[in-house]
Amino acid sequence: MTGEEDRAGRTTREDELRGNVAQVRERIRAACAGAGRPEDSVTLVAITKTFPLEDVRTLAALGVTDTGENREQELKQKAPDAPGLTWHFVGQLQSNKARSVVRLAQVVHSVDRLSLVGALSKAAVAEEKTVRCLLQVSLASYGPEGAETGMSRGGVAPGDVPDLAGAVAGADGLELGGVMAVAPLGSDPDEAFAALRAVSSRLRSEHAGAGWISAGMTGDLEAAIRQGATHVRLGRALLGTRPPLG
Ligand SMILES: *Cc1c(COP(=O)(O)O)cnc(C)c1O
Repeated sequence: MTGEEDRAGRTTREDELRGNVAQVRERIRAACAGAGRPEDSVTLVAITKTFPLEDVRTLAALGVTDTGENREQELKQKAPDAPGLTWHFVGQLQSNKARSVVRLAQVVHSVDRLSLVGALSKAAVAEEKTVRCLLQVSLASYGPEGAETGMSRGGVAPGDVPDLAGAVAGADGLELGGVMAVAPLGSDPDEAFAALRAVSSRLRSEHAGAGWISAGMTGDLEAAIRQGATHVRLGRALLGTRPPLG
């Protein structure tokens, strides 16, 4: 449907998403300008969890072709019916779901332990593909004690990044892409993401190709871009409020 309203005078979902995409692109543009970075140095990943396939397709038609899910179940429900997109997996991953995630996603942002590396590698070899892996780094020490949410829980301690990176870099079927983090609730996101940036530059001194920094969500994308994020993961800013997750 085109135009601002449907026949009954309602704003359509497509118009709503078009407006949201424009606002998000403007936020990214302004943040990049403020940080003296080119706008195309940041990739927008739409996190479509809890929203229907139709929204994924609408966003794709609006040019948002990097799409992420945080649960294997939802990835499985949407990705096969939305081919041609780059699918990112951003949630906590159990080893027994590695095969399914590897089959459907090109990028896994949440590699946080050695045992998962083995499972992902085995799956990638079996699927005959190469999966780009980001190491999820815990920034828990930058937030108030006990404030970790479901999203920021997990992640490898910064001191354990070199070992995990070595394992990914040496694993068949996996490609070490960089780092990912969620700023803990109640933290100063600039401080948390500055720490992530430091982890990233240490990583790059050993693994030159691992330059991605996946950081920044609806509430803190400006701080993330100031601190070097190459990928921002946006849900609510694009799609609206989610029902509370069970
Ligand atoms: C849900 C989610 C996001 C998006 O969060 P918003 O605040 O809705 O932008 C980003 N990253 C991860 C890991 C998520 O689970």
